[in-house]
Amino acid sequence: MSRADRAEGASTFRPPSVDRMANWPALAPLIERAGRPLVVEALRAWAEARRGMADVADETACARWCTARLSSLVTPSQRRVFNLTGTVLHTNLGRALLAEEAIEAAVTAMRSPTTLEYDLSGGARGDRDDHISPWLRRLTGAEAATAVNNNAAAVLLVLNALAAGREVIVSRGELIEIGGAFRIPDIMARAGCRLVEVGTTNRTHLKDYAAAIGPDTAAIMKVHPSNYAIEGFTKSVPAAELVALAREKGLPLIEDLGSGTLADLETWGLPHEPTAREAIEAGIDVVTFSGDKLLGGPQAGLVVGRKDLIERIARNPMKRALRLDKVRLAALEATLRLYADPGRLAERLPTIRSLARPAEDIRAQAERLLPTLRKALGSAAEAGIEPVRGQIGSGALPVDLLASFALAMRGKGLDGLADAFRRLPIPVIGRIADDTLYFDLRTLDDEAAFVAQLDQLDVVAG
Ligand SMILES: *Cc1c(COP(=O)(O)O)cnc(C)c1O
Repeated sequence: MSRADRAEGASTFRPPSVDRMANWPALAPLIERAGRPLVVEALRAWAEARRGMADVADETACARWCTARLSSLVTPSQRRVFNLTGTVLHTNLGRALLAEEAIEAAVTAMRSPTTLEYDLSGGARGDRDDHISPWLRRLTGAEAATAVNNNAAAVLLVLNALAAGREVIVSRGELIEIGGAFRIPDIMARAGCRLVEVGTTNRTHLKDYAAAIGPDTAAIMKVHPSNYAIEGFTKSVPAAELVALAREKGLPLIEDLGSGTLADLETWGLPHEPTAREAIEAGIDVVTFSGDKLLGGPQAGLVVGRKDLIERIARNPMKRALRLDKVRLAALEATLRLYADPGRLAERLPTIRSLARPAEDIRAQAERLLPTLRKALGSAAEAGIEPVRGQIGSGALPVDLLASFALAMRGKGLDGLADAFRRLPIPVIGRIADDTLYFDLRTLDDEAAFVAQLDQLDVVAG
């Protein structure tokens, strides 16, 4: 060893090797959670960041640093939250919550091989649609049914199967855009159809449809306006009149119901929303609607209607690209089964349960929660109970608001307060309006979990 080396060796700290650090007891819990490779990666970064410093060997500081660095990798990206926005079917928060029966069916299908496309009686190949189409036929009165990934896929598939290379007539007042870049004209183009717009934004007459029919017309389409309503001097053509015209011309009449529902919402004191059965009874040939909106099931696009048309739709090669997997089919079948007993839906289906909750029940819950909330807030904000109006969401009944009660918070730094609630172990998502943070309690079912984490709220006193 030269003199220079000795001098270096005396003054420079030699850090432990990354492999040795990985055996430090302080790192054991992180290795258990994240696995050794990720921890070794974090340790390299730690050693690099503290190069030449003696405290690289501080086990506790190192474990804390590595835990923070890996936190985004060890916490799931898609997490459970409390949806207290007042929108029951919130698309950004995952829409419908499944019934326990549907969850159980999905879990079983995830764990085990199933009869997805297998006919037990003959030991031969079956059709995956056979699990849900008998239920859909029974619940809508349609001759046949199929299902795909979501309603957008259903519309795409139906248009492609019935009208590719030809014209489809739609009223201008129904050329809607719903969230996530679903625009009827774009879907129409991607399906390979030519859109023929008739009427004006506010008024479309039967004669407008009639005048647009030509040798290239393949279908007439109706679209539920979902997320908006036109008021005032308006006119749209009732299904019955369109049915007569379509029949006379031998054209299929398609309707995109959007949310659609299989139950009469008036049973629970809610405003009327068109049911799939009504559309079929009115004579619509093919009806599409969503599985995870008012129906309260998994994401899916349901297609019901005339047997010959559904057969063409199910034979289209796009069906293979858009089909449902066994897990969602299991959940969908279990959800549809619940509709056989409408009297118990409000008890078993979370979507209906939330929508049917009486305002007084919600107010009582708000009163139960207020003292605990006030304690958690300290002097950071004032809290009270206020009547609010929520909505169904996902395009159902946009103008009808659900009378509800909310915990209402006011104070300086409202955004910071909302942020503190989002940093809780189960993030709480509310709605800010009029300088107030509202937690609409209509959709708070797990009250115990909400209360249990309030003492962890990290707010600055105002
Ligand atoms: C919601 C909606 C769709 C899209 O349904 P997804 O299931 O989200 O794909 C299509 N059309 C209308 C009218 C809708 O309201």
